[in-house]
Amino acid sequence: MKTTVVGSYPKPKWLLEILNMYGEGKIDKSLMEEAYMDSVKSVVKDHEIAGVDIIWDGEMRREEMVSYFAERIDGFKIYGEVRVWGNAYYPKPSIVSELEYREKLVIDDFLYLKSITDRNIKVPITGAYTIVDWSFNEYYLKREEAIYALAEVLNREFRGLVRVGANYIQLDEPAIPTHPEELEIAKNAVEIMVKGIRAYIGMHICYGDYRAIFPDILDFKVDQIDFEFANRKFEDLKILEDYDYDKDLGFGCIDVHSKTVESVEEVKRAIKMALDIVEPDQLYVDPDCGLKLLPRNIAFEKLRVMVKATNEVKKEFDL
Ligand SMILES: [Zn+2]
Repeated sequence: MKTTVVGSYPKPKWLLEILNMYGEGKIDKSLMEEAYMDSVKSVVKDHEIAGVDIIWDGEMRREEMVSYFAERIDGFKIYGEVRVWGNAYYPKPSIVSELEYREKLVIDDFLYLKSITDRNIKVPITGAYTIVDWSFNEYYLKREEAIYALAEVLNREFRGLVRVGANYIQLDEPAIPTHPEELEIAKNAVEIMVKGIRAYIGMHICYGDYRAIFPDILDFKVDQIDFEFANRKFEDLKILEDYDYDKDLGFGCIDVHSKTVESVEEVKRAIKMALDIVEPDQLYVDPDCGLKLLPRNIAFEKLRVMVKATNEVKKEFDL
């Protein structure tokens, strides 16, 4: 039984200030770089103090989870911001030519993190299905062609990651449960992404109706699926039970949309429910999703409670 994070973490307030200054041309690139590195150190320290077993760098360099990658892969163009969900805007990329590998996406972030912590590291990266689903496609005749081409690009990055020592990769695929009619395409894309990759593969999915993707999701070539459960009061655990869930389980048990910090007791209760479905060594306890939208002190407290609850359950069960 291990504790981990999904990926993002609140950026330190000073980093946001420095990012603004950098945007206005008031500071140079070397200062910006130093700020990124210091912010990763502070995130790592938060995770270490909280006691999380498997960590990531909090995604300090990513503004969001699609355009960050689109900007670094040939074939994408970013036109500008589009409106999503009411008043939220994001820079929606468009595929305008063949998708090709251009430069490292997260390898340097992994290496930097590895140089500053002894903790186990997980590398989360947005999957091909989600990136294409959240982009326009003006080039490929069929949507699946774009998805498979991008999956090849990501496969190359994964090969590079494994070469430098990464052993746990997480595909972030929140778009998958929103299109159950395309599960076959998403499944093929995963197979392309993980082809020849000797690493533990997790897949994080959130939102959408989980029942609509069962049982087919169990055929995906991943070691672990990470679901959000706290947000829906753990009702979806029933789905796993109904379908004899047999993969490792990423168990989202901290609500990332609520500023109320869970009690140790309620998280312990949740973990025990998960242990009715999988064995302890199949269980990865984590928050529902990235923590970036919470105030940092609350995100930190939630991680602390999560670890404490996990440790207490371990003790009670003699694990
Ligand atoms: Zn998520």
